Amino acid sequence: MVHGSRLTIDTDAIAANWQVLRERVGASVNCAAAVKSDAYGCGLAPVARALAGAGCSTFFVALPQEGVVLRREVPGAVIYVLNGLLPGAAPIYAEARLRPVLGSLAEAEEWALFCRSRKVVLDAALHIDTGMNRLGLSEADTRRIAADSAMLQAFDLTLVMSHLACGSTAGSPFNAQQLARFKALQELFPGTPCSLANSAGIHLGPDYHFDMVRPGIALYGGEIIEGAPERLQTVVKLEARILQIRQVPADVPVGYGQGQTTRRPTRLAILSTGYGDGYHRRAGGADTRPDDAPPAHGVLAGHKVPLFGRVSMDLMAVDVTDVPSELARRGAFVELYGPDVDMSHIAGTAETIDYELLTSLGHRHQRVYAPLQAPAAATLKEDR
Ligand SMILES: *Cc1c(COP(=O)(O)O)cnc(C)c1O
Repeated sequence: MVHGSRLTIDTDAIAANWQVLRERVGASVNCAAAVKSDAYGCGLAPVARALAGAGCSTFFVALPQEGVVLRREVPGAVIYVLNGLLPGAAPIYAEARLRPVLGSLAEAEEWALFCRSRKVVLDAALHIDTGMNRLGLSEADTRRIAADSAMLQAFDLTLVMSHLACGSTAGSPFNAQQLARFKALQELFPGTPCSLANSAGIHLGPDYHFDMVRPGIALYGGEIIEGAPERLQTVVKLEARILQIRQVPADVPVGYGQGQTTRRPTRLAILSTGYGDGYHRRAGGADTRPDDAPPAHGVLAGHKVPLFGRVSMDLMAVDVTDVPSELARRGAFVELYGPDVDMSHIAGTAETIDYELLTSLGHRHQRVYAPLQAPAAATLKEDR
């Protein structure tokens, strides 16, 4: 092995997670999948193939460039581009049969003009802003389009959607407000399928499901509701290799900036992974960390090993003082995220979210696409 770390991604678990969500929303609701940003870092092509194999037929990417790559993997699927119609890019959407999620009057006009010039009626979604103030049509512009029959004849409106700003905050009153605004505006487009829910929105209940749901993070085993333990199957495991073990005395500073000082004679394992591999720098150890905000940790053969000192680009140190030396040895692997280390917890130590850790995984690890469960379950799966 010439890599410093191993990233195992379980696409069967992603497909199984999708099945769980599909069953939760029921047969009358289309369960789509958000696969933007390289399928949340898990690899667009293998993830899309697994989801399509499980029966997923509608995908959401952020960019047309992602849609063009995805089209090669899922020739028959519906692909929506969430960032809308990029200026001048309509021919690329048409060629790859991508549906722009039109989020402004300018985009809608450009798509209509393009359709007329080509004498074709192409598909598109409309994104209505219901209070997030990111993408989406204002109420006034939504009403303008709803009244513009010429525009609505130029392209085929296949979806009306909006997006929740606080879905993952259980009990936020803003969810109900967005739901009410969406219901009122969606009625301007009778007969057109509607969609509001991401992963968290699915959790908010059937009122939020409409005709289609668009889960992302839940498929990848991430945190659905902030601070709640509920997760679907773990999908990603990241393990870093120990390059060397070093014994350091008490009262000695470790790493860049002398960020953390040993309080006791300490055995450190130096791992071949760092922020250049997507491991967040702010998850590291520091003397300045308050006692109630410990650094991130890994797990070595069942033992919890806290990070020690700053995370470097290619390296980090973990404290293995309490781990038997036959386990903490050169060449061994330390789990950094996975079944034994909750990625959302690690994200919390770095004041970020698992979405960011996933999309930062990058391509410097040895990537393995394989099941994460015990071999018995893997055998069962082959029988399927
Ligand atoms: C990313 C995204 C989703 C998926 O969100 P998750 O929180 O990952 O489930 C759904 N809809 C839109 C508009 C998005 O941008």
